Amino acid sequence: PASETGPFPFDNSYARLPANFYARVEPTPVAEPWLIKFNRKLAEELGIDTEALERDGAAVLSGNRVPPGAEPLAMAYAGHQFGTFVPQLGDGRAILLGEVIDRGGKRRDIQLKGSGQTPYSRRGDGRAALGPVLREYIISEAMHALGVPTTRALAATVTGQPVYREQILPGAVFTRVAASHIRVGTFQFFAARGDMESVKALADYVIARHYPELKDGEQPYFSLFKAVAARQAELIARWLHIGFIHGVMNTDNMAVSGETIDFGPCAFMDAYDPKKVFSSIDQFGRYAYANQPAIGQWNLARLAETLVPLFDPVADTAISLANDALTEYGSIFQRHWLDGMRRKIGLSTEEDGDLDLIQSLLTLMHKGNADFTLVFRRLGASAESEDADPTLVELFEEPGAVSPWLRDWRGRLARETLDAGTRAAAMRSVNPAFIPRNHRVEQAIEAATRDADFSLFEALLDVTSRPYEDQPEHAAYAAPPEPGEEVLQTFCGT
Ligand code: AMP
Ligand code: MG
Ligand code: MG
Repeated sequence: PASETGPFPFDNSYARLPANFYARVEPTPVAEPWLIKFNRKLAEELGIDTEALERDGAAVLSGNRVPPGAEPLAMAYAGHQFGTFVPQLGDGRAILLGEVIDRGGKRRDIQLKGSGQTPYSRRGDGRAALGPVLREYIISEAMHALGVPTTRALAATVTGQPVYREQILPGAVFTRVAASHIRVGTFQFFAARGDMESVKALADYVIARHYPELKDGEQPYFSLFKAVAARQAELIARWLHIGFIHGVMNTDNMAVSGETIDFGPCAFMDAYDPKKVFSSIDQFGRYAYANQPAIGQWNLARLAETLVPLFDPVADTAISLANDALTEYGSIFQRHWLDGMRRKIGLSTEEDGDLDLIQSLLTLMHKGNADFTLVFRRLGASAESEDADPTLVELFEEPGAVSPWLRDWRGRLARETLDAGTRAAAMRSVNPAFIPRNHRVEQAIEAATRDADFSLFEALLDVTSRPYEDQPEHAAYAAPPEPGEEVLQTFCGT
């Protein structure tokens, strides 16, 4: 019964790995914990005793009470931050409570973020401000609703303690659920120390946990590398399809499970611009929208460097295997990207000219400052009628500019086999009406931070939980920012 076992049916495996993989550390209690949001549906999926947890929710989810069965630890990792290698990062403000096996049989991590200092905190306070916690909550749940692999939000609590950033802000703790928190940087941590025994132990653990089908095959470590690369290729293609910019694709923020992880200064773009960057710390556009696939490949090359010694006894062969796999990553990405873009413009068959058709639409959108999300959503409406939707053409600065493209597109659709209604429904299922627009995210954070008013946060969560449904009553949430509302920069604000 829950009274003996606690709300979480923990079944921990990371804590069984060698002691150099982590530091055991308990959360630091906070002054006045208050539960502001609990994701009951996710909790049920995880097999959590939600009634027991809700009774004691603020204490457990703020880190004030360690629940039975938890084995709190901070994971060790390294990472390339903006291209510079840092041999020791690690969970400086996050603590893994343990793992549960969810109702689908999948192992999931339960982690507190902002729960106090750890041996990896360096000069940090181990805390999180309310704003970034709400941003991660909103965006990770929206990503999930959009169908993109992602870590999830189980809860947010406020701590009743201030955190000191550029301003004094309310502190908060975020409860994150992940397939695992193992990063490219986790491999780098051991490789940088020349500890190949640990790299191998980690690789074996990752295979068993995330890629069990590779265990008994040939070249399991090379296969692991290829499998991680394939999942990243697909993931990043999905980001591009919905206009998502991660913002800090450091190697410590890339999960080997293939989930989107570490939502910092991330945001969705409004007007289409391949060079778009939100993050205040990304001065050179390293992590710009269209650079994400290339950065994914760069990060995977860093992963390959850690695994190559395990591939094959002949070093030359191992390196050329890795290089081939990195090239293959590029083609896997391109295939997923093109497949998804075809679906976005309503194509269910393939023709050689499709790539050009897609590229020329993107070029027009860029030149015309057209809203990425709305163009594709309204294109779906146009697919059902003979004439272009007037609200589509007006998204472009020069509405006439898109007419020739629309003619070409209709010509292409004429060679499709699906009927118009089926096509439009398919387009609605891949082109969201609602994304968590950056100005809405900022408004929600502002109201919560300044006035402890969580109504905008709740409303935004609700609307973005059904991104592919027309919700006429929430039309305002579909709209891009008014000129004065646009948020130009998103701060890393830890
Ligand atoms: P991030 O930018 O959130 O991906 O974090 C990069 C590294 O900095 C990780 O090792 C974090 O644990 C650490 N870190 C970020 N913020 C803090 C903080 N407030 N206190 C301690 N460590 C932090
Ligand atoms: Mg240790
Ligand atoms: Mg991180």
